[in-house]
Amino acid sequence: ENRPQRKPEWLKIKLNTNENYTGLKKMMRNKNLHTVCEEARCPNIHECWAVRRTATFMILGDTCTRACRFCAVKTGLPTELDLQEPERVADSVFQMNLKHAVITAVARDDLRDGGAAVFAETVRAVRRKSPFTTVEVLPSDMGGVEENLRTLMNARPDILNHNIETVRRLTPRVRARATYDRSLEFLRRAKEMQPDIPTKSSLMIGLGETWEEIIEVMDDLRANNVEIMTIGQYLQPTKKHLKVVKYYTPEEFNELRLIAMSKGFSHCESGPLVRSSYHADEQVNAAARA
Ligand code: SF4
Ligand code: SF4
Repeated sequence: ENRPQRKPEWLKIKLNTNENYTGLKKMMRNKNLHTVCEEARCPNIHECWAVRRTATFMILGDTCTRACRFCAVKTGLPTELDLQEPERVADSVFQMNLKHAVITAVARDDLRDGGAAVFAETVRAVRRKSPFTTVEVLPSDMGGVEENLRTLMNARPDILNHNIETVRRLTPRVRARATYDRSLEFLRRAKEMQPDIPTKSSLMIGLGETWEEIIEVMDDLRANNVEIMTIGQYLQPTKKHLKVVKYYTPEEFNELRLIAMSKGFSHCESGPLVRSSYHADEQVNAAARA
């Protein structure tokens, strides 16, 4: 296996913390809320929380029933469902004065509805408290059950985001339980249910895919009416996770963005540090213009 030896310069960034950010962290602890920003040690946290006023909440607990080989969320059997969680998320969005809130969830394959009802209630609770905050949802495939997706789409999020994560060939090795075709179907159905709500999907690269396979993902997403795409560098969260096979250069990311735009996406973020929710606030506007 051809492993790159060390992290290139463009991935070495200093964590920038300030008062504003520390206060927000404390509030999260007090409310017993989980953010992807903190748990994934996302390098963009300062820019997102303090400057852009956007954050990604992880609901339905902190324990996932799946164990994808790129993901640092802890795996196991989750405890009971926390029915107060939607209100606590809504309080935090309000207190953080967020412009854009991303709500994601662990996969709850232990629940019949995949957590869809609590997910939908969280969207509604945020709307009630912060009517001017845009809300993006980032669910798992919720078991691939159409009814679960409908429950969530009926809450009318501003963006439906579901990550394809990797190319077709690598999906069985990288993702647990999810399949490439099921994710495409999920995105297509979401668009059929609520045609005016933009759909979005993210791809991590650096797991051993070829350039042609990346282009194929773009074509598959477009064939299923996905409008927004993000592409970012995969980084290994711990030694137990999949190794990085390749670090793409900023120039390569830029080239991929141009190719994506030529294929008809209304917005594409592509860069080494781009994450699913990075610059998501801009994408709402791009989608509105499209
Ligand atoms: Fe949080 Fe996403 Fe921003 Fe990272 S990119 S800090 S996960 S909102
Ligand atoms: Fe992580 Fe989502 Fe996979 Fe669970 S389903 S292990 S949260 S990527």
